[in-house]
Amino acid sequence: MSDELEGFRNETREWLENNCPEGAREPGFIPWGSSKIELSPDTRLWLERMADKGWTVPTWPEKYGGAGLSKSEYLVVQEEMQRIGARPPLTGRGVNYIGPTILEFGTDQQKVKWLPRFARGDGGWCMGYSEPAAGSDLANLQMKAVDEGDVYRLNGMKIWTSDGVYGDWIFCLVRTDPDKPKHEGISLVLVNMDQPGVRVQPIRLVSGNSPFCETFFEDAFAHKDDLIGEVNHGWSVGKRLLQYERSVHGGVNTSGAQVKQEGPSLVNIARQYMGVHNNQIADGAFRDRLLRLEMNSHSYRLTQRRVIAETQASAPALATSILKVKGAEFTKERAEVQQHAMGMRGFAWEDDSFTPDENETNKNWLTTRAVSIYGGTSEIQKNIIAKRVLGLPD
Ligand SMILES: Cc1cc2nc3c(=O)[nH]c(=O)nc-3n(C[C@H](O)[C@H](O)[C@H](O)COP(=O)(O)OP(=O)(O)OC[C@H]3O[C@@H](n4cnc5c(N)ncnc54)[C@H](O)[C@@H]3O)c2cc1C
Repeated sequence: MSDELEGFRNETREWLENNCPEGAREPGFIPWGSSKIELSPDTRLWLERMADKGWTVPTWPEKYGGAGLSKSEYLVVQEEMQRIGARPPLTGRGVNYIGPTILEFGTDQQKVKWLPRFARGDGGWCMGYSEPAAGSDLANLQMKAVDEGDVYRLNGMKIWTSDGVYGDWIFCLVRTDPDKPKHEGISLVLVNMDQPGVRVQPIRLVSGNSPFCETFFEDAFAHKDDLIGEVNHGWSVGKRLLQYERSVHGGVNTSGAQVKQEGPSLVNIARQYMGVHNNQIADGAFRDRLLRLEMNSHSYRLTQRRVIAETQASAPALATSILKVKGAEFTKERAEVQQHAMGMRGFAWEDDSFTPDENETNKNWLTTRAVSIYGGTSEIQKNIIAKRVLGLPD
């Protein structure tokens, strides 16, 4: 490592030691900008301090609220945060999805208007892509946007809107020209969710949670100034946004704060629940499964670092689908291995005779079923890899 980078590491370490509040040095809630969610004092302080330093979006230019860090410096900040167990100060679709998209496709006015707000966590963003008849076949979307001078009048419906009840803003793919072929005539617009024409209906899941919603647009409005990219050319802008999303799931986006919170140590869990023999987890077959998972996860992390170092843009174009598919596999396997280690105590369901961690394990397992669906299913990612990476025929 160069002397310069070593110096940067020392400064970073010292600054983090002095400025990361105790309450932000443990797993916990990571703000995503929603004005409808109250933050604990330490979480708010951490967000404000990091935003002042430009480290909520370390690689963005300073004039847009970032710190203009290089990839190597970015990785140093991530490592130093991990060293003290610091949570990311900010996450979400603002800094991670629509922010980098505006950085790439927005006008100067749009960048000045929106990016500093994203960087400070001022406003929580939802994603309005999927519709009942447009999931994997996203280009089939039907939500209408009719040109009315300074505004677009919006009518239609989105589904699976994550965090819909807490959202302040939503970016939507809409049909601005219904007469063109389906991949054309689509545009990307930013919509204020706090207006009479936007209605959000939570969807209740088997887990009892309602993490996502149906969102109805009934004569809602979007300002024309808030159309990102060219009108009717939103398909390529929207696809690029999906690459930003997938690169977050794959852990290689350098736009936002990307320190992943480490899950519980599976070795410790297994030692506790399965017992220890000759100072080893007692079950040999389980040891083998755990070892394979940890080796794969380690090579995955090394690959992420290599991809970050090698790509110019903050979201790699080709590797995102590969990393998303593999990342989803490892996330699911991790949840299954944890359940395997805990035996029947890993299958608890809101039962007082189980510990809170045991009760969480089953819900976590259920939640991880979704990782190979959101952001585009694994089957769709494999289609993309076949066509775009391997160059196979349709
Ligand atoms: C937890 C979660 C959060 C989400 N949050 C959001 C959100 O905030 N905003 C948003 O817009 N959307 C969101 N989604 C929706 C998500 O993007 C869609 O579920 C996903 O794109 C799949 O679409 P679908 O559900 O309509 O399934 P379908 O497209 O109907 O697919 C059904 C099955 O068929 C397979 N399939 C379909 N087409 C093909 C093909 N060509 N080749 C091979 N297999 C195929 C799929 O892989 C899948 O297994 C979320 C989903 C989940 C699970």
